[in-house]
Amino acid sequence: MSDPELQIAPGPGERAGEEPLVEARDLVKHFPITRGVFLQRKVGAVKAVDGVSFAVRRGETLGIVGETGCGKSTTARLVMRLLESTSGQLTFDGQDITKVKGAPLKAIRRDVQMIFQDPYSSLNPRKTIGSIISEPFAIHGLLTEKDERRKAVQELMETVGLNPEHYNRYPHEFSGGQRQRIGVARALALKPKLLIADEPVSALDVSIQAQVLNLLRDLQRKFGLTLIFIAHDLSVVRHMCDRVAVMYLGRIVEIGSGDALYAFPRHPYTGALLSAVPVADPSRHGGKRRLLTGDVPSPANPPKACRFHTRCPKAQDLCSIEDPPLEDKGTGVLTACHFPLTREEVAEMGLATVTQSTPAG
Ligand code: SF4
Repeated sequence: MSDPELQIAPGPGERAGEEPLVEARDLVKHFPITRGVFLQRKVGAVKAVDGVSFAVRRGETLGIVGETGCGKSTTARLVMRLLESTSGQLTFDGQDITKVKGAPLKAIRRDVQMIFQDPYSSLNPRKTIGSIISEPFAIHGLLTEKDERRKAVQELMETVGLNPEHYNRYPHEFSGGQRQRIGVARALALKPKLLIADEPVSALDVSIQAQVLNLLRDLQRKFGLTLIFIAHDLSVVRHMCDRVAVMYLGRIVEIGSGDALYAFPRHPYTGALLSAVPVADPSRHGGKRRLLTGDVPSPANPPKACRFHTRCPKAQDLCSIEDPPLEDKGTGVLTACHFPLTREEVAEMGLATVTQSTPAG
């Protein structure tokens, strides 16, 4: 039986009661801080991910959003099993994969693929596009016939909007957007069950970001892909994700359906992230934007109780004494906050529409 915070409605094409594809429970990743050259003494830990629980259902896109250093990319690497968790449990396709090694781990690597942030450094400049996209086939010993492999790669190139005749070209002959398409084609080669996109457009020009986002959304629909989409900007995931998890200093502070969360953010941190999103008509902000001030505290020494209390405009004494639980504050979204934003406060911030159906705080 799932924890209450993992309870989710059936996704597109999913039957009620079906297990989610990915389930993380209390996932923790601490990186030890050591001193001494020979006797490496542990003197502390960077708490990159500190008790994160979420589920991703089949065919769904979950956005994980937060500032640099919030633990979102570490969470992605834990799900991919590129990192081993310090504690917690990870289930993929009904199987506990928290500690798997060897052949079962290789099988998971086939089912879970990643698109990286920087299309420039993730492609080997000395290899042709054909050889880069066919890498996964070589690693997993698939399509060993040369012609068969070439045909599959050219089909993939077509799928992502690249000219198949450019099979023998090198990465430097492509634009940034095209290189990210190459990364997408490589990630799709093995028909993964889960695709993790780690800030896939943040290194690209604004003018081509939308093209790559549209491509990912089209592919997600066409192949019914399950997608975890990592971003530092809530506006990027707005039209991509069915549900959104907002992370701050190693924890999820708010998680729920994108529509509900954008219509009425309850956590002050989500409100601040949304406040930072540029709007076409700046007067809509009415001078009451709640922009974030100060730096993110060190994950080696995070603030006690609510970790956001050192930067939160709504902080009260209780916030530095008691950790707020992640719970539904009346909008169907789970929020970890003692004093969530009210409908009036959100309206004053001039964000996206606060729907009438959502209750006031
Ligand atoms: Fe702000 Fe307090 Fe809510 Fe934390 S618990 S987000 S400090 S109001």
